[in-house]
Amino acid sequence: MTSWVPAYIGVGSNLGDSLARVRAAFDSLAQLPGSRLVARSRLYRTRPFGPVQQGDFINAVAGMLTRLSAPELLAGIRGIEVAAGRVRSERWGPRTLDLDLLVFGDQRIDTAELTVPHPGIAERGFVLAPLADIAPTLQVPGVGRVEELLRRLPEDGIAEVLAA
Ligand code: ATP
Ligand code: CA
Ligand code: CA
Repeated sequence: MTSWVPAYIGVGSNLGDSLARVRAAFDSLAQLPGSRLVARSRLYRTRPFGPVQQGDFINAVAGMLTRLSAPELLAGIRGIEVAAGRVRSERWGPRTLDLDLLVFGDQRIDTAELTVPHPGIAERGFVLAPLADIAPTLQVPGVGRVEELLRRLPEDGIAEVLAA
């Protein structure tokens, strides 16, 4: 029997009603098969980074317990992105919904499809701030402890709290 694995999903949206999309994404995550949504972070408003001109992001993190494998969970979150109307265009461009598998138990995965822990975690305030809401003492495998990683970021790298 497969045991329950703690997994953390980064949620982001910057097209349309982003706030509603992020809230809806939590509900969709709660309905994934073989999985339970056990924690929701606060929601953060974040300035977009990268070369593309676009609106602010709403970011959050979901804490799950799952009996799915990491590739199965990735397939599940892709299904939620597609159902939310995500169209793949340029990387780092605007999107209706972006779900990233941040951490999957103590596993370290590096395949063409999936890198876990997600490589952006240590540099991204918009990931670490919501992750610290729900899992401050989490050890991100090979990276470090969440509250410690967050402390290392420059002050302005930390996103503003939008709503509980
Ligand atoms: P970033 O990954 O830097 O946040 P992004 O979210 O904009 O960038 P996407 O266009 O959403 O990138 O995804 C590109 C590819 O990344 C996907 O096709 C997926 O297979 C792959 N990928 C690798 N590791 C992960 C992961 N941990 N979570 C989600 N997707 C991943
Ligand atoms: Ca992303
Ligand atoms: Ca993504």
